[in-house]
Amino acid sequence: MIAAILKEPEHLDIEEVEIPVPGNGEILLKVEACAICGTDVKTYRHGHKNIVFPRITGHEVTGTVAKTGKNVKSVAEGTRVAVAPAIPCGACYYCRKGFQSSCENLKAIGYHYNGGFAEYMLVPGDAVRNGCVNTIPGNLSYTEATIAEPLACVINGQSLSRVEKGDTVLVIGSGPIGSLHAEFALNTGAGKVFLADISPERLKMAEFTGAVMVDTSRTDLKEFISHETGGRMADRVIVAVGLAQPQEFALELVAKRGSVNYFGGLPKDKPFVRFNSNLLHYGEFFVVGTHGSNPIHNRIAMDLIASGRINASRYITKTFKLKDIKAGLDMAEKKEGLKIVICP
Ligand SMILES: [Zn+2]
Ligand SMILES: [Zn+2]
Repeated sequence: MIAAILKEPEHLDIEEVEIPVPGNGEILLKVEACAICGTDVKTYRHGHKNIVFPRITGHEVTGTVAKTGKNVKSVAEGTRVAVAPAIPCGACYYCRKGFQSSCENLKAIGYHYNGGFAEYMLVPGDAVRNGCVNTIPGNLSYTEATIAEPLACVINGQSLSRVEKGDTVLVIGSGPIGSLHAEFALNTGAGKVFLADISPERLKMAEFTGAVMVDTSRTDLKEFISHETGGRMADRVIVAVGLAQPQEFALELVAKRGSVNYFGGLPKDKPFVRFNSNLLHYGEFFVVGTHGSNPIHNRIAMDLIASGRINASRYITKTFKLKDIKAGLDMAEKKEGLKIVICP
């Protein structure tokens, strides 16, 4: 089979390798689509703490079950599936509490295991056993179904942010993740949803979400949110960019008893922000961070997409062949569009 093998940062080769053989409890997936995530671009440029090279990356993956290993009963050959890439152990303290994204033995496809930028991919036994393999409903394409993974992370984030009916929600950053946050908040019954970005071009691409666009290159965000909320500010602020300045600023944009979510991670060599703790002290708001998702969030995400309430096809800007993956990574890096998908 053909695979894109990352030998080390910036050294990506398309090579012919053996098709893996599924062992006990494992599944061999014939990859049909694998979307490029922001992390894939970062890993391509700088590596990743959980990756030992060489590695096949790609974790927003869908395909057909080509072969099942011994003792796999839950899914049959030929089934169209999406694979949730974060694999919990199912046995540790956090898994037993239902917080699988905090699993103490968490492993991930595309990081610890080879991922979906290949013609075939092995799905580990723990993933099969712990509910990471989800059937794709018949009305969804493989490409559309790749949106289930980022949407699952958004669902996990908003459950920790406690977005409730009638809330005013401000999402900072209108990329694919910010757009999913906006669409999902509207689905959960949020009152007003604002999507803020410094790039008018990015905002234009996010208009379909139905949120109110706020162009911060020409609008004072704090003044705007204050005006829109009668001075109360936003009940929920979600920072969907990996930048320190918006994380600091978010503390000035949140209402009393509201919540701020640091959804985007900061670079590992610059993880600190200036934190005005008096804002927190007097505002009695909550600051949470989220990353990843639980297997159940992936199932919910797939159902939401299939129901049409999340407009999956609007997120897909372009598909590339596997042999052209570098062009896809370049396009994703330049943020020309929302999602770029690799179809082997
Ligand atoms: Zn991702
Ligand atoms: Zn665990």
